[in-house]
Amino acid sequence: MNAVPQKVLIADDDAVNRDVLCELLQPEYTVLLAKNGAQALERATRHVPDLVLLDVMMPDMSGYDVLRRLRATPATAHVSVIFISGLDRPEDEAAGLKMGASDYITKPFNATVVLARVALHLQLVRQRRMLEHLANVDGLTELANRRRFDEVYAVEWQRARRTGEQLSLALLDIDCFKQFNDLYGHPAGDRALRAVARAAAAQMRRPADLAARYGGEELVLLMPDTDASQAGHVANAIREAVALAGIAHAGSSAAAWLTVSIGGATFLPDSGEPAAALFEAADAHLYKAKQAGRNRVVWRG
Ligand code: GH3
Ligand code: MG
Ligand code: MG
Repeated sequence: MNAVPQKVLIADDDAVNRDVLCELLQPEYTVLLAKNGAQALERATRHVPDLVLLDVMMPDMSGYDVLRRLRATPATAHVSVIFISGLDRPEDEAAGLKMGASDYITKPFNATVVLARVALHLQLVRQRRMLEHLANVDGLTELANRRRFDEVYAVEWQRARRTGEQLSLALLDIDCFKQFNDLYGHPAGDRALRAVARAAAAQMRRPADLAARYGGEELVLLMPDTDASQAGHVANAIREAVALAGIAHAGSSAAAWLTVSIGGATFLPDSGEPAAALFEAADAHLYKAKQAGRNRVVWRG
């Protein structure tokens, strides 16, 4: 379950504190060390730890400033932070928690208490990750789910409107899949669906590209800043990869093996059209691909 040790960054200007905390945590966690605020930010951005134990009073930059800058950087914005500080007034603790620290431990600290709190917050981090995964990833195919897709699509549509870049979207539907299930059984259908998902994901080459399971046996492919010719090429590569996998389908009207149909559209979302228009165009093209005999890509009308 927790095979890879979680990463804890210790940031403290006092070498003795660093050593004590390091010895305490090293048996269970991967420990990273920083002796000032600048180093803490550098290590945090590079390694993205699961938790930061952050001293408040450091000569170059206070722990408060480090926390603020972590929050302002996308990669580290959600990293959990525990302040460890000699400032032991309730107001200090309140200020630290109000800034967004998960916890506040006063010096001199008790080793057992530090270990217990670190373990607690790392457990919360694991639980949060698991919830995020469940909320965003489809369990069968491991692709992004519909909820995640809708979120990303809204963002990419707005981005394309701002930048004037083209946005390509494709809908993929497995051909004669009801027949496949009827002939080979639902578990074999699930395996085939996973194989199609892998073929689609393998062609999503750019960081902003997204393949998601839209529903049943339908996937959606989102390719920001991609023109119709590039996107059509990607769609065709997916179609070919599925066909070349040679998954026998004796009940298909399109071929003797499993195939997919893909309908795509490319928009310049600057003309005031609603985000749904691109989707509807892709859906209309998917319908045409089915009508024309399946196992094909239709990108224009
Ligand atoms: P077409 O070529 O026109 O798309 O025909 P089709 O049979 O693929 O389309 P239809 O929409 O009639 O049937 C879709 C089938 O996909 C029915 C459903 O059982 C199957 N399906 C949907 N989701 C899953 C799934 O998660 N696992 C399996 N095994 N089958 C699924
Ligand atoms: Mg369907
Ligand atoms: Mg189908």
